[in-house]
Amino acid sequence: RDRAEKFTFQTEVNRMMKLIINSLYRNKEIFLRELISNASDALDKIRMLSLTDKEVLDSTPEMNIRIKADKEAGMLHITDTGIGMTKEDLVNNLGTIAKSGTAEFLSKMQDSSSSQDMNDMIGQFGVGFYSSFLVADKVIVTTKNNADKQYIWESDSSSFSIVEDPRGDSLKRGSTISLQLKPEAKDFLEIETVRNLVKKYSQFINFPIYLWASKTESVEEPIEDEEPPTDKKTEDLDEDAAVEEEKEEDKPKTKKVDKTVWDWELLNDSKPIWTRKPSEVEDSEYDEFYKALTKDSKEPLTKIHFVAEGEVTFKALLYVPKVQPSESFNRYGTKTDNIKLYVRRVFITDEFNDMMPSYLSFVQGVVDSDDLPLNVSRETLQQHKLIKVIKKKLVRKVLDMLKKIPDEEFAKFWKEFSTNIKLGTIEDPSNRTRLAKLLMFHSSNGEDLTNLADYVKRMKGKQDKIFYIAGSSKEEVQKSPFVERLLRKGYEVLYMIEAVDEYAISAIPEFEGKKFQNVAKEGFSLTEAEGGKEQLEQLQKTYEPLTKWLNDEALKDQIAKATVSERLSDSPCALVASLFGWTGNMERLAVSNAH
Ligand code: ADP
Ligand code: MG
Repeated sequence: RDRAEKFTFQTEVNRMMKLIINSLYRNKEIFLRELISNASDALDKIRMLSLTDKEVLDSTPEMNIRIKADKEAGMLHITDTGIGMTKEDLVNNLGTIAKSGTAEFLSKMQDSSSSQDMNDMIGQFGVGFYSSFLVADKVIVTTKNNADKQYIWESDSSSFSIVEDPRGDSLKRGSTISLQLKPEAKDFLEIETVRNLVKKYSQFINFPIYLWASKTESVEEPIEDEEPPTDKKTEDLDEDAAVEEEKEEDKPKTKKVDKTVWDWELLNDSKPIWTRKPSEVEDSEYDEFYKALTKDSKEPLTKIHFVAEGEVTFKALLYVPKVQPSESFNRYGTKTDNIKLYVRRVFITDEFNDMMPSYLSFVQGVVDSDDLPLNVSRETLQQHKLIKVIKKKLVRKVLDMLKKIPDEEFAKFWKEFSTNIKLGTIEDPSNRTRLAKLLMFHSSNGEDLTNLADYVKRMKGKQDKIFYIAGSSKEEVQKSPFVERLLRKGYEVLYMIEAVDEYAISAIPEFEGKKFQNVAKEGFSLTEAEGGKEQLEQLQKTYEPLTKWLNDEALKDQIAKATVSERLSDSPCALVASLFGWTGNMERLAVSNAH
């Protein structure tokens, strides 16, 4: 150990460790989830490499995770036959915070005030390797990568050292994380504790997890005092000489006794949940899988599990969370990495970033296809024509899933994700009709939001357009003079009071054959629809001197045009946007955006 090279942790690592220790002291047990998740990642990496280069598995064909508690030494060992780490990897991966996401997370955490926030955030990010120090005074990582010798990394959390392993390459390939447990964390040496934790946090890991465990087993032991065989079967056999002879040799010299035996106990079912038949998966299993996948502490709002067939066959299991992930709109359009892509059960990537369009970036889940090539680079795969087909189908399926959410649940969905859907109508022309069916708006019909289909059902006999008005609040638009007359006559008007509403509507040409009519826009004629054209013409004639005077003299420079209106009932006059101009609401938005 004298020859061990000493290193100091990057400042961010020290901050990260402090943060973990201070905020997770009540959740120490998550260290095991993190170490198993790293082991699984390391196995994914070697399996991924083996797709293009089989020889990487020559060092050991095994792909599993083994956990062993050494009570005497007070140590817990987690071993994987994953990719392992070279000396350089050790310095970089276990001495710095390499990932930009973690750095971002760190700065967020420092701004965050409530400890509940912190716990939620930590839960979602996954705190990683350094969580080992929640339970350990000392952590020793023994690791062997195909490209290097075996090394030992050791740390007491203040600094770390690396030395070549004097025992040689005992691991063949992979890593062992050995934790010298703190006195108060000795419970993690109990088989039962470890078994329960693996069941709780790691049941969906796609590699076998074994625990070195004792169990009581019946074993054969030599018999001292011989008893003559008495059962009937033996008597029958006695009649056959040949068997008799054999039996003489086999004469029971042993008996069964209970004994404690130690062996590797398999803790998980590594058959992926999405490969099972939907009818055979319990709801609770779907929920648990979701939590394991996303680290969300809540159940999902809804899910869809299906096999797509046709041009490409694939299985998918997709979820919608209950709550909009924080920061979604700050990162809008830059990153969506919530879909894990597998090819024939082999994890390929969660970094394609466009498996879902931006507006559906809240969807989380897995996609697994047998039809994609395994032996190509990720870059080549990303360009594969079948990936495009998969993406298209995924969007359709997600929209189907959303359409099927029952009303009450849908209200919850809408509260969180309405902006996503509205942006979808603007960004995804090919699914506009499907998206339009999901839209909900305030309306003059009552307190509840309405969807467009229900609005159309309530439309009056002669009405051939969907009436709406845009503004900044329900109170404001309700009082608008343009709405007065319509309401008085018993028409329903949609109130578009979110900034994005009017843009979404202008992206949708029509709904069930009905065009949208902004009741604040010029050219809107209720009378026309009711056959009152002549009456209007009469009024126009009567008031011609007034409009002429307003147009040519009184308001010549202030307005584009003064006309007789049929839209007002109590108010004497109103300012109206021209047919091709911006509405007052859009102008308001443009002005506020410019500032
Ligand atoms: P994350 O898993 O999010 O990358 P961690 O803090 O859990 O962050 O791990 C840091 C890095 O250390 C990993 O990205 C990986 O490169 C490396 N590492 C950790 N555990 C192992 C392991 N068992 N085998 C190989 N590499 C590992
Ligand atoms: Mg990790």
